[in-house]
Amino acid sequence: MGGNLLNTAETTSPWVNGNGIVAHPKAPVGGGGNGYFCSPSSLGCPGNDSSPIPHPLSPVGRNLNPSDTDIMKLAAAGIPLDTSQKTKTSVLSVSIKEKLNKPEDSGDLIFNASNYNDLYGQVNKRATEARNNADKEAGRVQLNWEDISFVPTGGGDDDVATQVSFKILLTTTLPTWTTLNSQPQEHQAKFNRWRSSIENHEKRHVEIYKKHLETLLRKYVIGPTQRVILNDQTNKAIEDVNVYHDELDRTGQPAGLEIPGGTQRIP
Ligand SMILES: [Zn+2]
Repeated sequence: MGGNLLNTAETTSPWVNGNGIVAHPKAPVGGGGNGYFCSPSSLGCPGNDSSPIPHPLSPVGRNLNPSDTDIMKLAAAGIPLDTSQKTKTSVLSVSIKEKLNKPEDSGDLIFNASNYNDLYGQVNKRATEARNNADKEAGRVQLNWEDISFVPTGGGDDDVATQVSFKILLTTTLPTWTTLNSQPQEHQAKFNRWRSSIENHEKRHVEIYKKHLETLLRKYVIGPTQRVILNDQTNKAIEDVNVYHDELDRTGQPAGLEIPGGTQRIP
């Protein structure tokens, strides 16, 4: 018993010796049984807040391969650690959901024109502005990070994350004409054709996100810290996915609204 059983230099478990013999539960190193026993960690550590894990130069500490939880405890105690040696972060899951914004929530895409001529004027004005402002398209898909959660949980910006999960919501907003239902059939049809064309275009933006974003997140998100993941690596994935969006907007713009009484369209 005694020294032979706690030969931690040759075994990774304090319960098993170098010959593979498991300590008896009632033996001093086995602990937990009748009589006196000791805990499989540095003496004084359990129940003693002075050190979050065994001292690295203590007999137990010299043989301890710190787990991620141990590293979190050290970071919380203000003990610097070289995180570059740690395992890279892996992306656990990427969930992408989509929804269509309600007409009343469509904000600047709500057109309140009382007739088709006025609608055409409002849309035309907006299209003119769009040439100088990419955000002034007649439809849009907005990406929201609904949740980004890390393993281990409860850490801060500078803590190591071994795994990360992303929950993403894509919200599509389409133009709304508040007086549509009271308009002549012909004008309703013109508006609906325009809206459908925009809807098809925005669907293609959604498809781009669904096709590429998970792959890009898995490519760029490698950790090690939450701050690097949030500030740099997710943005890198977004920058890359935006290349696909820009390409779509260069090559496949939706049709314009038909002019009142004619067949010409707003370019
Ligand atoms: Zn677009």
